[in-house]
Amino acid sequence: MTRPRVRFAPSPTGALHIGGVRTALYNYLFARQQGGTFILRIEDTDQNRYVPGAEDYIIESLRWVGLLPDEGVGFGGECGPYRQSDRKEIYQKYAHELVERGHAYYAFDTPEALENRRQAEENFTYNYLTRTGLSNSLTLPAEDVGTRLAGNEPFVIRLKVEPGHEVHIRDLIRGDVTFQSSELDDKVLLKADGMPTYHLANIVDDHLMDITHVIRGEEWLPSTAHHVLLYRGFGWEDTMPQFAHLPLILKPVGNGKLSKRDGAKFGIPVFPLGWTAEKAEDSFTGFRETGFLPEAVINFLALLGWHPGGDQELFSINDLVAAFSIEHISKGGARFDYEKAKWFNQKYIQAADNATLATHIRPLAEAKSYRVSDEYLDCVAGLMKERVTFLPDFVEQGDCLFGPVREYDVETLKKKWNPGFAPVFDDLTSFVAGFEPFQAAALEEAVKNFIHDKGLKPGDILPLLRIALAGTMKGPAVFDMAAALGKEETVRRLILLKEQGEKALQNVVSA
Ligand code: GLU
Repeated sequence: MTRPRVRFAPSPTGALHIGGVRTALYNYLFARQQGGTFILRIEDTDQNRYVPGAEDYIIESLRWVGLLPDEGVGFGGECGPYRQSDRKEIYQKYAHELVERGHAYYAFDTPEALENRRQAEENFTYNYLTRTGLSNSLTLPAEDVGTRLAGNEPFVIRLKVEPGHEVHIRDLIRGDVTFQSSELDDKVLLKADGMPTYHLANIVDDHLMDITHVIRGEEWLPSTAHHVLLYRGFGWEDTMPQFAHLPLILKPVGNGKLSKRDGAKFGIPVFPLGWTAEKAEDSFTGFRETGFLPEAVINFLALLGWHPGGDQELFSINDLVAAFSIEHISKGGARFDYEKAKWFNQKYIQAADNATLATHIRPLAEAKSYRVSDEYLDCVAGLMKERVTFLPDFVEQGDCLFGPVREYDVETLKKKWNPGFAPVFDDLTSFVAGFEPFQAAALEEAVKNFIHDKGLKPGDILPLLRIALAGTMKGPAVFDMAAALGKEETVRRLILLKEQGEKALQNVVSA
């Protein structure tokens, strides 16, 4: 196979949905595996749906997950410009050429006239039947058409779909798909404002950019029939790309396609990055802000509709590039299982080295005004990584490692603190203060001996020690925490614990 050229062609109509990231990923994997080229094309010809900031959002999302295009808006390349609004003249030229070739025609019907027809006839479509009674270059005398064009009368250019034949598509995922041409409408290709519609721009660009494979969402399958007719009309059938239509991503529960609203409904991210809109209800957080590692998101998305067989679930991007194949993409929809996404994140956090995690934790710690050294962050990363699901958990669940204990688990304190513990804790505090080397394993052994020598059991004292250091019964291993906090801070917290214990006791007695 010649080296494939594939494109991800989003429209900047809002934040890029996570399904769009999956489409980009499959294109990327296919290109990388075959030594091909991955292109980013921005399809912004529909000015009414254009949302400022959406293009930047798309590019930032691709950067965040590491799917960097070889060519495209913001990335250069020889087939540019890659933003369709910068290619307006190109489409105009091709639209007129298609009219000359007899596969398209000028239509002068006013929006009002068409609206009237729609009102009068249910299911009105502009097609091979209705076009005979409408105002276009197939029905009007040539002279009249010439006059209208010369007089700058508004017109659109429509595809002339010939009835009575079948349009076949060999989809790489779905197999043979057949459409009846008589059921297809005469799609507008060039609008009255001179802008192309999606169909024209998409086909012209795929042709001019030498695209070999079109890998896109299932919702575009019906349009493909028109696209095939366009390739034929232009005489480009020999170089027509191969099509692969990806399965839908389904809601976490129930039926239907995962939608933007599901994010708010289930309190989960369905976009890669956060988005700030004018209205608060239109704003949302993304996978990034929730605290996902991009590698985890990639692994999760890769398996939403693709699996090479076997039981491997963890795939690095390189593994994915090696294992990917279009044949193993499923036809059926893939359920958006957020619990699985969380599982992947845990796995990737656990597998990440501490220094890498520290680079993710630093901004989160700084946002809370915690000042810590790189070395300390590495240490916190190591202590917490088996316990967290999201990156912010490091500073939230690990709060006590960054600052003083803010709240004590009073219920457990009440149960565990005994009247005779004050002198025990005084002794323990002095013992810890004099202990060297202040390392987790050595300290653990020494403290356990200390407890034994006092005639007590580990279960009497260790929970209290944990509450002393963390405030709660959760968190990393007690002696790891003590070693991380250092002797001085550990001793300080032991002294505070005694106060808390005595207070808890008074409450119990007075209650
Ligand atoms: N602009 C279309 C979209 O927003 C692209 C569809 C295609 O890949 O052909 O998804």
